[in-house]
Amino acid sequence: MIPAIKSKLPDVGTTIFTVMSALAAKHDAINLGQGFPDFPMNQELIALVDEAMKKDFNQYVPMQGYLPLRESIAQKVSFLYNSSLNPDTQITITPGGTYAIYTALTTALQPGDEVIAFEPAYDSYIPNIEVNGAIPVLINLDFPDYKIDWDKVRQKISPKTKMIMLNSPNNPTGSVLSEHDINELRSIVKDSNIFILSDEVYEHLVFDNIAHQSILRYPDLMERSFVCFSFGKVYNCTGWKLGYCISSPALMAEFRKVHQFNCFSCHSPSQVALSAFLKNKDSYLSLAAFMQKKRDYFADRLKQTRFTPLVSHGSYFQCFKYDRISYENDKDFSIRITKEYGVACIPVSAFYKSGTDNKVVRFCFCKKEETLEEAANRLLKL
Ligand code: PMP
Ligand code: GLN
Repeated sequence: MIPAIKSKLPDVGTTIFTVMSALAAKHDAINLGQGFPDFPMNQELIALVDEAMKKDFNQYVPMQGYLPLRESIAQKVSFLYNSSLNPDTQITITPGGTYAIYTALTTALQPGDEVIAFEPAYDSYIPNIEVNGAIPVLINLDFPDYKIDWDKVRQKISPKTKMIMLNSPNNPTGSVLSEHDINELRSIVKDSNIFILSDEVYEHLVFDNIAHQSILRYPDLMERSFVCFSFGKVYNCTGWKLGYCISSPALMAEFRKVHQFNCFSCHSPSQVALSAFLKNKDSYLSLAAFMQKKRDYFADRLKQTRFTPLVSHGSYFQCFKYDRISYENDKDFSIRITKEYGVACIPVSAFYKSGTDNKVVRFCFCKKEETLEEAANRLLKL
């Protein structure tokens, strides 16, 4: 007899990204669902990985990550956010941003702890909290501008609150934190034992001349935070699954205890390549303008449709209401336009535990202009 597993995640199915990408492939639809670029990544960076492999950087690096890469990250953080980091004690290279988030939660949470998270929430957050036996305390971002109502946060704080999770720029909505948000956060956590997890994987995808409000700018917040990043988003190579976490030395020491017995160390040649490539400031500073053009191009083409745009100031995504097109729920609508019109999107209800449906879908615009044009032409027929 095969023993039965008592599921740690009894309510979880397959992620919406996998579901919609499979549906797009089956119906030969343009995939504006899952967030990944359809254009080639930087060839110089590929050449540097190739060179690193040929120079035989093919064995384990230390579990914290390749030291020259951690040094390059510290230099970049100092340049961008005027924050001084010790690469020995405050930076750990991880196999992607998702893993960094999971590890931070596993490091900090005990069963029964409460974690405040905002919905719509990136799909891994709630399962990552629950698999650690902790309790997600969910607060809706205000619809339709998806801002945080800090009074609601104050009301939800309890003696069991262990952590607040933030994500700016936000997936799926493209909303970004302002300085006001940071001040509110400060006033709430000051004199508390609350940790912060800040998912900043889209740090270089903030548009409209807005400055990214990284937690790394604020030493008082930084010391209680795990700040998570992804090279996949910075260098248009989501399949690399390489990222890092930054924290204060005491928190990072605990993070590394968990990390070292899970992944231990990440892909060596990519770390060698990135340690050099990261010194090229233009390689990351040029990304926002490049992607903003794509956001604007797609939104401009969709003006001729009955989709209503919601504001996106960052990320790979923009959300659109479709209530002038259909009364269907957002999942049915997303499936139908994938099958019948050949364009896949993501229903935003998938980012709410209770399935809140505001008749909004998320389109990914980090695509070649010709892809966006063809998708818009198909959506025009709706
Ligand atoms: N957080 C958010 C908000 C994301 O959109 C992504 C992208 N998948 C990640 C984390 C994870 O990044 P990675 O692919 O490096 O794990
Ligand atoms: N972050 C990507 C998105 O939001 C997908 C990552 C994934 O498939 N897990 O579309």
